Amino acid sequence: MNYSESIVPNSSYNPVKSPNHALIASIVRRAVLECAGQSARLATASDDPLEIFHSPGVLAVKEEIVRTGRKLWQRQYVDGNGGNISARVSKEYVVCTPTLLSKGDLQVEDLALVDLDNRRICGNLPHTSELLLHMEIYKTVAQAKAVIHCHPPYATAHAVAGVVPQGNLVPELEVFVGQVALSTYETPGTSAFAHTVHSLAKDHNTILLANHGVVCWADTVTHAEWYVEIVDTYCKTILIASQLRPSLPPIPPDKMVDLLALKKRMGLPDARFATEATTEPDKLEATIEAYIGAAAPTQFRGNGRQDSAEMDRLVSHLTEQVVAFLEKNI
Ligand SMILES: [Zn+2]
Repeated sequence: MNYSESIVPNSSYNPVKSPNHALIASIVRRAVLECAGQSARLATASDDPLEIFHSPGVLAVKEEIVRTGRKLWQRQYVDGNGGNISARVSKEYVVCTPTLLSKGDLQVEDLALVDLDNRRICGNLPHTSELLLHMEIYKTVAQAKAVIHCHPPYATAHAVAGVVPQGNLVPELEVFVGQVALSTYETPGTSAFAHTVHSLAKDHNTILLANHGVVCWADTVTHAEWYVEIVDTYCKTILIASQLRPSLPPIPPDKMVDLLALKKRMGLPDARFATEATTEPDKLEATIEAYIGAAAPTQFRGNGRQDSAEMDRLVSHLTEQVVAFLEKNI
């Protein structure tokens, strides 16, 4: 595992200033990138769904979805027309894959813009019937900006057997995925099926869907696909390891503490963290996004790519301001 290439970009500020400093900085960076037009969510100031759907930011998300569909198909995580991918591109809308199409054959033109009430607003093809599952996650977890549902064989085998793989065995899973959950079975595509993840999604970015497959959420489509890869490889590894030795030795508890501390410094959420006020991820993210939305300099709005050193300086500067703001207000 290369933690230096983690999903939290490098920054010039000192990440050990406070337990929450790195988490705050990672959220600040994301919010600033949005203001700079590098993310779809604020890529256009327009509320017009057609403008949003055809904006450069959303086009980048669509291309990411198409690339991810190919990866899922190449890794045999989707079969037939199975699996679906979505990304939240504004408060009101998600972009998602169509129904009845192989994820290996996806094209940008196949994707649809759908509102949170599951109505297709833009796009030529009917959207995935599994979007209710995705919507349940978006409505439950503010941090979720992308959702992937698919059928990777080893993780699905565990879901079919109703077995949650033993934890605390491989650092990669603990840091990037955390504790895996198992939902109860319901008929796919129904509201009841979507509701099976309601109580699980907040504390688990990866859920085994009983007798069905897996669903992962993350801050980007790419990261959600990483989690799919990590959980499926983990399930495969544990299956092989348990044939070599029935009782698998876990990572020692003090080393697990180290891993969780590392995860916290990387700004990744985990239900095992202490729940002090400023580490409640949803509340923290909403607070910081609101602050950055008001405070980010106008030259960082909609101007495309910024110089990375300049971006680091801005993130560092704004992080200090946000920390001070949070200390006063939370
Ligand atoms: Zn499925």
